[in-house]
Amino acid sequence: MKKVAIIGVGNVGAHIASAAINKNLAAEFLLVDQNQEFETAQVLDLCDSLLFSHNSRVSSADFGDKKVREADIFVITAGAKQNPGETRIDLLAKNREILQSIKKSLGEIKKTAIVILVTNPVDILTTITAEIFGLPQNQVFGSGTLLDTARLRWRLARKFDKNIANVHGYVLGEHGDSEFVAWSTVNGSEVLSAEEKEKIATRVREEAYDIIAGKGATYFGIGAAAAEIISVILNNSEKVLPVSTVLNGEYGVQGIALGVPAKIGENGVEEVLEINLNEEEKEKLQNSAKKLKKLL
Ligand code: NAD
Repeated sequence: MKKVAIIGVGNVGAHIASAAINKNLAAEFLLVDQNQEFETAQVLDLCDSLLFSHNSRVSSADFGDKKVREADIFVITAGAKQNPGETRIDLLAKNREILQSIKKSLGEIKKTAIVILVTNPVDILTTITAEIFGLPQNQVFGSGTLLDTARLRWRLARKFDKNIANVHGYVLGEHGDSEFVAWSTVNGSEVLSAEEKEKIATRVREEAYDIIAGKGATYFGIGAAAAEIISVILNNSEKVLPVSTVLNGEYGVQGIALGVPAKIGENGVEEVLEINLNEEEKEKLQNSAKKLKKLL
């Protein structure tokens, strides 16, 4: 049975664990947080849902535990979250330090481990994590624009009055303010006016700000999205998801992680797909890259 360590079990970490448990994944979940009292309470609360999901195992763990170092998948959600009005980029310095301290506390981990970054700003942190963790780049990736794509698809499903499974399309680039809807990938987008497209793209981009203003954090969507990534890895499904992965020349971008469609399997990112984007979309992707590289 594979071991999945979730580092940071606040709003996001706990909802990822909950969504993964409810997916009945054949894995043991180890929950690690610097606040041990809080961690124990989260684990107890999650264990109360086990009867209804049958086979998932959840336990509290410490950084020093051998079973944590031997985890097959690390999901990192530890770190500062946005306060109302803050951007994801505002968290960079703080969360980079937290990431470094996590690796120090973990010590040696399996050479085959997969690390999924969720902590923001997720693209810049993904770019530096492979080096911090001493792992090959394909084994380290971020949740990227998967959540933004989910936000796009439910809005399109509602607009077109279709089942969400039957509407397709991607949000690409930064998981943040320079992200964009790649309309050339959206089926049926030709019936939408420029104003309608702009309205949908703006709502998708600003949704996190609205949720944070209303209740302090976002967690149901990312919980389900990260549980899907874990499931795809554990089942080696080779599903294409828009995750944040370091680009090596694809789309004319080098050395920075961005949300692009990638085939995900048991080794992490099995392949970055270079889909046909139009010139305007390529330029937007390159603008995301320029912005993030400057900050890096
Ligand atoms: P939270 O404050 O509820 O939880 C963060 C947890 O991290 C806390 O329990 C804290 O004790 C723990 N922590 C901090 N430093 C730690 C360390 N060194 N070791 C272990 N644990 C540590 O915050 P949240 O709402 O769960 O958000 C967590 C992160 O996820 C934020 O950076 C947020 O911006 C990000 N996020 C990302 C996405 C995405 O799509 N990528 C979506 C939502 C939130």
